[in-house]
Amino acid sequence: GPALLFVKTSQGKEEGRRFYACSACRDRKDCNFFQWEDEKVSETRLAAREEYNRNHQPFFTHRQNVDRYKNFVLLPLSKRRFCQECQQLLLPAEWEKHSDHQFLCDITTAQLKSPSQLLYPLENKKTNAQYLFADRSCQFLLNLLIDLGFRRVLSVGTPRLHEMIQSKASQEEFSVRSLLLDIDFRYSQFYTEDEFCHYNMFNHHFFGGEAARETCRKFLYEENGERVIMVTDPPFGGLVEALASSFKKLMAMWRETEKEGHDNKEMPTFWIFPYFFESRILDFFPSFSMMDYQVDYDNHALYKHGKTGRRQSPVRIFTNLTPSMIVLPEEEGYRFCTVCQRYVSSGNQHCEICNSCTSKDGRRWKHCVLCKKCVKPSWFHCNNCNCCTLQKHSCEKADVGCFVCGKAGHKRSACPSLSCT
Ligand code: SAH
Ligand code: ZN
Ligand code: ZN
Ligand code: ZN
Ligand code: ZN
Repeated sequence: GPALLFVKTSQGKEEGRRFYACSACRDRKDCNFFQWEDEKVSETRLAAREEYNRNHQPFFTHRQNVDRYKNFVLLPLSKRRFCQECQQLLLPAEWEKHSDHQFLCDITTAQLKSPSQLLYPLENKKTNAQYLFADRSCQFLLNLLIDLGFRRVLSVGTPRLHEMIQSKASQEEFSVRSLLLDIDFRYSQFYTEDEFCHYNMFNHHFFGGEAARETCRKFLYEENGERVIMVTDPPFGGLVEALASSFKKLMAMWRETEKEGHDNKEMPTFWIFPYFFESRILDFFPSFSMMDYQVDYDNHALYKHGKTGRRQSPVRIFTNLTPSMIVLPEEEGYRFCTVCQRYVSSGNQHCEICNSCTSKDGRRWKHCVLCKKCVKPSWFHCNNCNCCTLQKHSCEKADVGCFVCGKAGHKRSACPSLSCT
């Protein structure tokens, strides 16, 4: 899909030079597309790029994958193989070609219903880090949105939530439906075109063209009063601005499905993202607020619930729903603050001066009278810097802050908030 326009700023210069680069791949190793905005593109280069793109299409189309799946489920268990190297379901005629690859045998229907367990999580840090919800968090999200009365979920980059909904829907009496939008094309092997759209959330691109857009539009149309919610869990290295712009377009799609009903309303949304992005998200969505709930992940050693003795997850739910409606589990230590009218972490004390429950990370924060706000318990007020900060710091004039956490001294690529090992 379309590239994004970036700007290279060099020190001392007012204006930087603008260039286009891939929206999805933040690492030049994954996609080397680069184009100065003001550079003329020769016919040859254009042709070369088109040739490159043609050669880098997935081997099978979504349609072909759907047909292959139909054939696959007809096979007896003993003939159901999954190639781990190619991340592909194999039909018997293809075994030969993959004979020196590692594969799994006897793929059960249960396995086919949990592709996020079968596929290995993509681990490229910058581009496509896949962090899958722990069962507890996934179940919590699903119960929450059912209790809130939603019957349709637009799952944007949340394959595991989608999968949980799909597999329940195939059992009796479960009326919730989900449409998965994700850039990971491997999922097209397991879901039809009505269940999965190959989608890029950094530039709102539907790889399946107008037909896929129409699928999404139809899904967003609230027939028989079935309310829709968007749930999204983007890669944390992603640019908030690009994500916000795509989400606004999805919201507009929703608004346009209903001529009268949705005037000035915003599609209900859960945006799952680390708490240190709060101000960035609120810049783009002033109607959102951050919930204290800590979202846990399976394959992320750090992002697990505090109770298990691990470090606490920094990942939160941002939503445009009324905070008091988001009921957090008391058995996990959340309580309702009657002043703030929302559920908060047990360690999150209501500050009388700020008149709010101010902790972002679940620990008890302390109020600094000089800063006139609550700060992390490990911070102290530095009179040189004239603000609260870590004890260990050098009192230098802050240079341009990190894009991610806003702190000085490092670039976004090296932000300690994002480190995941
Ligand atoms: N916690 C979620 C997974 C979040 S990981 C769950 O368990 O369901 C981030 C997800 O976003 C992955 O599924 C990844 O494939 C997807 N993703 C990454 N970059 C994307 C992009 N540019 N467009 C759409 N989806 C993307
Ligand atoms: Zn193979
Ligand atoms: Zn409070
Ligand atoms: Zn305070
Ligand atoms: Zn202070």
